[in-house]
This record gives sequence, C-alpha cells and structure tokens, in this order.
Amino acid sequence: MNSERTEKKSSIAEQEKTGGNRRVGRKAGEPAFDMERRAVYRLAFEGVSLAQTLETIIADVEKRFPWRVAVWLFNEMQQSFTLKVAPGMSKSYCSAPRGALGNYGCARHALQTSATPLFLENIAEAAECAHCPQRIKMQALQRGAGFSALWSAPLANTQGESLGVMNFYARMPTQPNAEMQASFQRFALEAGRAVAFWEQEQQLRRALTVLSIANDGVIVTDVDARIVFVNKAWCERSGYSQEEAIGQRPSLVKSNLQGQAFYQEMWSILRENDEWQGEIVNRNKSGEALPQFLRVRGVRDKGVLTHYVGVITDLTRLKQSEREAEQLAHYDSLTRLPNRLLAISRLNFALEEAERNGSRLGVICINLDRFKNINNSLGYPTGDQVLQRIARRIKERVRGKDTLARLGGDEFMLIQEHVRHPDEVARMAQLMLELMRQPIRLEAENEVYTSASLGVSVYPEDGKTASELIQHADTAMYHAKKQGRDTFCFYTAELSLQMRQRMHLETQMRRALENGEFKLFYQPQADIVNGKINGVESLMRWKSPEFGSIAPGEFIPVAEQSGLIFNLGAWAMNEACAQARRWLDEGLPPLVMAVNVSVYQFRSKNLLSVVEEALKQSGLPAHYLEIELTESAFFEDAEEAITITHKLHDLGVKLALDDFGTGYSSLAYLSRFTLDKIKIDQGFVRDITSNTTNAAIASATIALAKSLNISSLAEGVENEHQLDFLRQRGCASVQGFLFSHPLDAEACTTFLREGKHLPVIPTLI
Ligand code: C2E
Ligand code: MG
Ligand code: MG
Repeated sequence: MNSERTEKKSSIAEQEKTGGNRRVGRKAGEPAFDMERRAVYRLAFEGVSLAQTLETIIADVEKRFPWRVAVWLFNEMQQSFTLKVAPGMSKSYCSAPRGALGNYGCARHALQTSATPLFLENIAEAAECAHCPQRIKMQALQRGAGFSALWSAPLANTQGESLGVMNFYARMPTQPNAEMQASFQRFALEAGRAVAFWEQEQQLRRALTVLSIANDGVIVTDVDARIVFVNKAWCERSGYSQEEAIGQRPSLVKSNLQGQAFYQEMWSILRENDEWQGEIVNRNKSGEALPQFLRVRGVRDKGVLTHYVGVITDLTRLKQSEREAEQLAHYDSLTRLPNRLLAISRLNFALEEAERNGSRLGVICINLDRFKNINNSLGYPTGDQVLQRIARRIKERVRGKDTLARLGGDEFMLIQEHVRHPDEVARMAQLMLELMRQPIRLEAENEVYTSASLGVSVYPEDGKTASELIQHADTAMYHAKKQGRDTFCFYTAELSLQMRQRMHLETQMRRALENGEFKLFYQPQADIVNGKINGVESLMRWKSPEFGSIAPGEFIPVAEQSGLIFNLGAWAMNEACAQARRWLDEGLPPLVMAVNVSVYQFRSKNLLSVVEEALKQSGLPAHYLEIELTESAFFEDAEEAITITHKLHDLGVKLALDDFGTGYSSLAYLSRFTLDKIKIDQGFVRDITSNTTNAAIASATIALAKSLNISSLAEGVENEHQLDFLRQRGCASVQGFLFSHPLDAEACTTFLREGKHLPVIPTLI
C-alpha cells in the first residue's frame, strides 16, 4: 500500500510540475475555492478529462488533510455506481467490483439527499456498509492502520440532483472538525460542479455527434438570425463550409423563388408560435435550386429567446420521384409524349387562352394507315420503333407552344395554338402527311413506309369544348380513311373543300414558279400636269394551264400564308428591274418602275438584299425603282419599319404608300417614314365625283401630301370627270384604265414607244 501511495504521490508531484497542474493549483493568496471555476474552465475548454480535474481537486485535499479521497459516480440513469478516481487508495480498493447500487451505503444516502453528508465512524462495523464489497472494507479491516472513518459528501448539480459521492477516508475513527467539514463540503461542491459540467458537455457532444451525422441539415442562429452552427449535412447540401456560414444570415442560401411576402409570413408565424414549418426552395453555392422541408423552432432559456434551430429535410429526391410519378401519369412511356390525360388538360388550357385572345385553335387527330400490318409482319418491337421515330419526326417540326400527344396505339393528336386562319392548320396537316410518307430506316437496314389519315377540327368553328373538338377531329379522321387514306379532312365538309383547294393551289403555285407561269404586267402612270408617262407599276399575273388566269388578289394571300411570297416576290423584283433596264437601254424616256412588296417580304430580314441584288443584276440605277408598301407594313413594329425604310432610302430607292386610306391612315407615318409618294386608293377615286366623303378624303390627302412635300398619285382613274377633279385638287399623277390597262411587257413597250400622253387641259400645254 505504501508503495502504491508513493506511486500516486509521485504522479501528483509530477502533475504539479506540469504547466497544466500549476495553472489549476492554488496560487498564493487566492481563495481556495476560486479554483473551482478555473478547474471547470479547463475541463470545458482545454480538453482536460474529468478524471484529471477530479484528481487535481483530490490532490489539493490530500495535501491539506490526512484524509484520502475517492469519487464515485452514478451513471446517467442512476442505476449503477462506479469508482471514478481514487488516486490515494490501494489497488484492492480501486478494483472493488461494481455492486448493485443498493449495496453501497454512501450511494443510498446520496440518492436520498444531496444536501447532507454521511459520517460513519467505523465502516467495518457500520450497518450502512453491511453489503459493501469486501475489498472496500478490507482496507479498513486487514490493517489496524487502515481506514476506519468515512465522511461521504454527495455530489450534486445545480438542480440539486445527486451525481455521486466524494468519500473522505480517515485512518482513525474520528469525525472531521467543523472547519474541516466546511472545507470538505466546498471540495465536494467543486467536484460536483466539475462532474455536472462534464455531464452536460457529454450530452452536448453526443447531441453534436448526432447532428453531425444526421441526414438532415441543421442550422442554428442567434436571435438576430446570425448563423452560429451548421452541421455537416447542411454544408454538404449548401456547398458552404462552416467557416463560410457562421456569422452569416440564412439568406445566404435564399433562392428568391419565394417572394418577400413568404418570408414575412414565415417570420411572423415564427415570432408568434416559436415554430414554423413548410416547404421552401433554397439555392446552393453554385446556384442550383434545393427544394427543402424546413422546421424552425425558437429556443428559450428561462423564457428568453436565445436561438433558432432549423432542421432541413432535402426534398430533391422526393420532388424527383414526384416528377417521375407525374411522368408516369401524364406521359406515354414509349414515345415520352404527353398522354391523353395531359393532352386534354393542355387543350382545356389552350381553349381558355384562345377564348381570351379571340384566336383560333386547331386539333389534328393522326392515325397511322395499316399500322396493324407493320406489327403483324415485322413484329411488335419494330412497331414500337416506328411509333417512336414518327413521334420524334413530328415533334421536331411542331412549334414549341403546340402539343403533340400520343393518345394510344397508333393514334396521335396535335394541338395547334394561336392560329389565325384555318389555313394554317391545313398547312400543318399537309406537312404531317408529308412527314409520314418519308420512309423510316430501321436498325436492321429495313425501310418501312407509312402514311397517315388526319382529321382536323378548328376552334371555334367546329366546337367550343375539348371533347367536342377531339370527337370532331376523330370523325374527320375516319372520313379521311374512307377517302382512301394518306389524306386529311376537316370536320366541316365546306372547310374541308376550301382547304383542299387552297392546298392544291399552293402546290400548283410552287410548280408554276418553277415553270415560269407567272408574268409581270405593267400599268403606265402619268404626270397629271404635262400628261407624260412618268412611271409604270408592275402587277403580277398567273396563267395556269389548270385554272386559267388567276388574279393576284387570289393567289398573293395564299403565297403569303405558305411562305412562297419570298421566292415569288424576289422573282418579281428581279424581273421588274430587268425590264426597266431594258427600256432604258432601248432609249425610251426614263421612268420609275414601281414594284409591290408584301408586308411579309417587308418584315423579312432579306428584303434589303433582294432589292440590292435585283439592282445589281439588272444594272438599274436605284432611283428608277419605287417600292410600294401598304400601311400594314407599319402596324406591328413601327420602329423596325422606320429602320427598314431608312435603309431602303439609303440605297437610293423610292418609297410609295399604296392603297392610302384603306388602313389606319395614320398621319404620323407620312412624316416618319421618309415616303416619296402616296397612292390614293381606287376606292376613293371610283365615286370621287358623287360621294362627298370620298371626295373630301381624296382632297385632304392631296393637300396633306403637298404640305409634306410628298408626291401623290390617284389609282383607278377610269374617266375624265375623275381626272378633272384630281387635277383641280392638285394631284400629281394618275394611273388607271382611262390611260391604260395593265399591259404585258411587249404591249407596254409599244405603248411607251408610241409616247402616249394623258389628255391634258389645252391651256396647260
Ligand atoms: P395594287 O397595288 O393597288 O394594284 C392596283 C390594282 O388596281 C391592280 O389590280 C390593277 O389592275 C387595278 N387597276 C388599275 N387601274 C384600274 C382601274 O382603272 N380600275 C380598276 N377597277 N382597277 C384598276 P391587280 O393587278 O389585280 O392587283 C391587285 C393587287 O395585287 C395589287 O393592288 C397589289 O396589292 C397586289 N399585287 C399585284 N402584283 C403584285 C406583286 O407583284 N407583288 C405583290 N406583293 N402584290 C402584288
Ligand atoms: Mg400597287
Ligand atoms: Mg393600290
């Protein structure tokens, strides 16, 4: 035992030499129990173990008093009782087995009260120690010099709960005097605090360990919403390290996907209830949106709010599976196209919009022809491949806002939105027929040929509701099948016929352009004062072997709708410039060649290059070319229109405003678009001598043009009365049957060569 003692003593002596112990050891003049705080401080912040702290306290006791000390602790649930430290006790004492709690008299006492110590004069004989492990008592029994008295002070936390005991043993059966008792009591208080602090810290550590390994992100802020703690899961998800996050506000990960009102409501609920939970979308460091479920709780210490703790569950996976479920419910798994359910809901939505905007909407039902044969002859996997290819092929050609859906089997449906004219739906149907006819090359080098029958219904003509429109498109589709397949039918027979004719016209027009069936006619224009020809207007004519002569009023709109106008317009521009150049080369008096340009051409990006190219190819000086625009060219985007007109002007080309008076006739155009000429529409000229309103409009237009220094020309002048009227009003030029009908190139050449004049008033000649 002596050797053990010496060993322990020397270890304490050693400890005393070390800086750590010296710092804890009492300094001269320092009140003994101020040490307590410093010991606890070391325990918490310097990572000193509880055993070390207790040993330091015990060393202090044993240095001052001839008593030996052992500290025993209850476990957390107060179910067992274990020796924690006993630096001055023998090995046999220290190896005393853990007994049941009730066996230890001192433990039983401490459980009953933490306020008063237990004193036993002779532990060997004390009834309280009757069941105590022999090894503890042996020390007292075996040697007379062993321990006899026990002064056992319960250790307690601040709530007065017993944590264990600090046992002071004396060799003699003596009771410590009052001063000693007070000292023991204070040592026990110090040890109790150390144990309580350690236990708290253990709990905290455990909690932090749980938090750090938790799957959920945890974020703790102070009352000012400054982050004081974030766990590993939070860091991993947000991409911010703890260092980056601490001190910041949770708005660090704010996504701005929720408005200010969302956060205001969240904070007001939180302030009122100390709790908020709900879905939120945050953003990680690299900007990705994170759907999350957030639970925030206010933490209060004795009623005072100190912190907010937020637990964040990641919803990305959940959202993903929701999306997958949505995909399953709304999309066809083979083609990934919307299924019938989604198609109907999109159609309903589109119908609401069409009603609001007053626009049309097309529904096209597509059914493959003899698809059963493909399945039966080539097998279902090939059939599936064909469906996939067809879906992809159509999808690539439909506009983003339109919906292509697979209704099932070999049935597809296209919803075409923002349609202005049933024509557009017919054109789309035509395109689909063509797409369907293209062979499908399969992996096995097989080529499969398909076609489809299409049924078309148009809102509002063919139905007002989704089910009506689908049903009618379906009926039309069966009609197309009956007509021999590989075709489309509109629901209404009348529309069907019209559309078919239009489509046919379109096809014929394409062919006509290639075959040179279009011709330009030229209508002379004359100066009203001197009667001389000062220009010609080129007017397009189509002589079709199938339809005969077709007026531009009929085919120009079809060309505009089908996009053919660009080629047709470019052809007319080239042809007119070439003709004007030929007349110049023939030595005929110079005149201005007027070419009509459709609003579609005007809006297209390449009008300028078409004009430049025509001038270059023909060698016609730009000031002999006049472009006729209608007022609709300026409706959509006036600013852009101004830019184009300026650019045309820069080329040296003249600009005339055709059909003036039939559009909005905004006076603003006249001054802003650098125009050279206003053409008064023939509608005003026709009854200019009988209709006072039209007469007034024509007169005002002429006066206005004069005041703006713009030339004026009256169209459709058919008789002398009209001519007289216009002359009196000061109109600059005229064009009309009175002077000449539109003539083909040859006839016009003769006309020009003859140098015909407009009848003029003798006095003015
Ligand atoms: P516009 O540019 O206003 O052409 C004048 C139209 O009035 C021409 O009809 C012409 O034949 C007709 N006209 C001329 N004098 C008289 C007359 O005294 N009495 C009556 N009743 N009519 C007269 P057209 O040739 O049928 O052309 C109709 C429209 O087609 C043109 O109206 C123009 O807007 C368009 N158009 C003609 N050629 C072209 C072209 O090459 N390109 C484009 N984009 N449009 C063209
Ligand atoms: Mg014209
Ligand atoms: Mg006109």
